[in-house]
Amino acid sequence: MDHKYSHIINHLGEDRERYFNAVAPPIMQTSNFKFESMAEMEKAFESERSHHLYTRGNNPTVSILSQKIAALQGTEDAIVTGSGASAITCGVMPFVQAGDHIVAVENIYTWAKHLFDDILKKFGVEVTYVDGRNTDSLLAAVQENTKMIYLESPTSLMMELQDIHAIGAFAKSKNILTAIDATYLGIHNPACIEAEMDIIIHTASKYIGGHSDVIAGVICGTKEIIDQIFSPTYMTFGPSVSPFDAWLLIRGLRTMEMRIRHTASSSKEIIDFLSDHPKVDKILHPFHESHPQHTLAKRQMDKMMPLFSIVFTEVEKSALNAFVERLNLFQMAVSWGGHESLALPLTVDNHGEDLNLVRMYVGLEDPKDLINDISNSLALL
Ligand SMILES: *Cc1c(COP(=O)(O)O)cnc(C)c1O
Repeated sequence: MDHKYSHIINHLGEDRERYFNAVAPPIMQTSNFKFESMAEMEKAFESERSHHLYTRGNNPTVSILSQKIAALQGTEDAIVTGSGASAITCGVMPFVQAGDHIVAVENIYTWAKHLFDDILKKFGVEVTYVDGRNTDSLLAAVQENTKMIYLESPTSLMMELQDIHAIGAFAKSKNILTAIDATYLGIHNPACIEAEMDIIIHTASKYIGGHSDVIAGVICGTKEIIDQIFSPTYMTFGPSVSPFDAWLLIRGLRTMEMRIRHTASSSKEIIDFLSDHPKVDKILHPFHESHPQHTLAKRQMDKMMPLFSIVFTEVEKSALNAFVERLNLFQMAVSWGGHESLALPLTVDNHGEDLNLVRMYVGLEDPKDLINDISNSLALL
């Protein structure tokens, strides 16, 4: 952990002398804030983001968190939302209108796809989906009315990457906004900043919360971008996070780097075991040498993040279901990024063809125990 990171997670944004020198910040569980004069109140109405007026807009506990989030991502500003899905909605909606076009990559997060296909479509915004691995075809899908390129790198089922540096440079030259769901990369990862992504979205329900007990999301960008998101979209939809959940997220951040470091090392052990196993056809993990985009992954990532998919030699759905049902330590559940290991049998659209795979998330348990668990269940596959 470097000095800057250590300062951010332990101290940035925390004015301890303002609350009795408490080491942990208070949970300001209040909906509203009182004023001594009308002049003060008017100032707050004018810039609700930088004053304490009403918790839907701003709250002291939440703002400790958003300052840390912006600093970790390396952006001027950030806003916290009540879910990753609402971060996607609020990160996209303010920037498009009827007649506009979005280029998005295939296999994006389910509810991002619903935003595009079911909601934005109703309001006259069109979306073209492209194979994000092929930068040329992605850029070729850009039209005269393209306002935004929407990325998710890597995608969280097929683990496919986009060359975000090339796409970012192209988009800047054409004045097209780029939005990226960068949850997999992690908020500490500088790749999105280096690639000049405009709107950087993470769900905080995964690594940031880290304990499978909070739903939240974040959007990072310039102050101008975040201000545009704040009013009217964010204030109208109202997806603010509760002060208590913000407090849990601050607590989650304190150990995030250590959790990611631990799971990077466990994931490596587990993937080494799996890749030698005769019943495993392929491991889909960007940071594994066998991944077709491994070189690109090394430019965009610095660690073996703990989420990957397995394609087995046996691909019958019922056999994969049974494999996961037999696991004891890997729990069958959606989501990832918590303390607990997870496994999920899925049928994924592999560019037009159905593919049965098992998505695995490596938690904080002892990697030897996790390997035993997988090994026992694989023996019956
Ligand atoms: C889970 C997830 C989301 C949605 O986040 P929620 O907090 O569950 O709304 C978005 N993107 C990715 C990549 C995810 O894994």
